[in-house]
Amino acid sequence: MDSDNFDLIVIGGSANGSQAAYIAAKNKLNVAIIEEHDFIGLPEHCSGLFSYSGLNQLNSMPPEDIIFNKNIYGANIVSPNGKIFSVRKSDPHAIVCDRAAFDKFLLNRAIDEGAKVYQPYKAMSAKRSNKQIYLDIKSKNGDTISLTTPLVISGEGIRGSIANQLGLITPPKNKFVNAAQFYMTDLNEINQEMVEVYQTQKYAPDFFAWIIPMSNTTAKIGLGTSKKSAAKELEMIIKKHEILKNRCEGSDITRVTAGRIPITGPIKKTYTDNLMLVGDVAGQTKPTTGGGVVLGGLAGQIAGQIAVQCKLKNRYDSNFLKIYQKKWKKEMYSNLKRMLLVRNYMNNLSDYDVNILFNKLENKGIIQDIENLGHIDNQGVIVKKFMRTLSLYPFYFRTSFKLIKSFF
Ligand SMILES: Cc1cc2nc3c(=O)[nH]c(=O)nc-3n(C[C@H](O)[C@H](O)[C@H](O)COP(=O)(O)OP(=O)(O)OC[C@H]3O[C@@H](n4cnc5c(N)ncnc54)[C@H](O)[C@@H]3O)c2cc1C
Repeated sequence: MDSDNFDLIVIGGSANGSQAAYIAAKNKLNVAIIEEHDFIGLPEHCSGLFSYSGLNQLNSMPPEDIIFNKNIYGANIVSPNGKIFSVRKSDPHAIVCDRAAFDKFLLNRAIDEGAKVYQPYKAMSAKRSNKQIYLDIKSKNGDTISLTTPLVISGEGIRGSIANQLGLITPPKNKFVNAAQFYMTDLNEINQEMVEVYQTQKYAPDFFAWIIPMSNTTAKIGLGTSKKSAAKELEMIIKKHEILKNRCEGSDITRVTAGRIPITGPIKKTYTDNLMLVGDVAGQTKPTTGGGVVLGGLAGQIAGQIAVQCKLKNRYDSNFLKIYQKKWKKEMYSNLKRMLLVRNYMNNLSDYDVNILFNKLENKGIIQDIENLGHIDNQGVIVKKFMRTLSLYPFYFRTSFKLIKSFF
């Protein structure tokens, strides 16, 4: 059995773990990444829709050859009764890319800086002793390696088993949204500059359905739901929903992907002795849209910077690592909390309520406000203004009452 020691071990070589590994390796830390899948990014669990500003902030713009669509200007949001409310920016706001290839691009960047990857190796168990973490990893053919490190960054996604073993409580598994997505060709009337979002409790309870265009005939069409079988619900909506049915008539499904999304917002504690959590495992996922690559990536980069500080100061204790939580909270906490408020609010509205809400949105000036202030990664800014402008407070109190009742 081999044994190796590293300054930092990152669990999970996907987008957010790789961001942490990249920053730490670039700053000369001796970094290992543990990734259980043969091919990073697979099985695919993402639409690959990322904002320009988010990618620029992360200095992570993917190469041209893995981008499907560079010109997403905004979104058409469709109410249950088919009313369309359009939010369009004057310049391209987001790209659609191949998420698996994006993960590979980020992982390779960390490798180029000197990070060592154990792949396909699964982190099986982690124990803390003498201010070190002892980690056993296992390959598919049963090879086991023991690694030691004073610091682990977990970017292990929603499962969170290593985080749990080391004493942190990860997002509640019974509150995940189940999502499925079809790659489809020969679609009809696709506006390749606009994402479509279908708000419908009937077909996509507690989330929504979407069309993310790759061209004017191809798109990723998906749905998130609190029901178990997202793929079945997706099959149903593309056959039965008035607008989606027309879009999909005569089209083909070329690929099916699926995943789960945490929508309960950030967890209380994202650090403890010798450990920081980044991305989905920390609930740094937008409860509104389910996007977790920009904010999770930002948290990943912050954790990478803290790892460098840990090595410099030779401090890996919880009291030192609390700076990680302070820093990522400063960047995104209130934004995430406001998005959580919106998610809880929306999930307590019936389709009838949403139709009323859309009528209110037709009021002059509101769409303009959203176009000016709205941002795919920072929706918190618009939320406060929205509630006031739309006089939603009574409505909000009504749904809050429902929410409180649902706890008992
Ligand atoms: C259908 C769908 C569409 C989405 N669309 C978007 C979108 O368009 N834009 C966006 O920003 N977000 C989107 N998301 C959310 C996004 O996919 C997640 O937020 C993001 O993948 C989280 O990244 P992560 O690195 O934290 O975790 P993950 O991507 O889940 O990566 C975790 C990694 O850890 C590895 N791992 C886990 N446990 C172990 C272990 N014990 N040992 C070794 N390796 C381990 C896994 O193999 C995996 O590679 C979507 C999600 C779904 C389900």
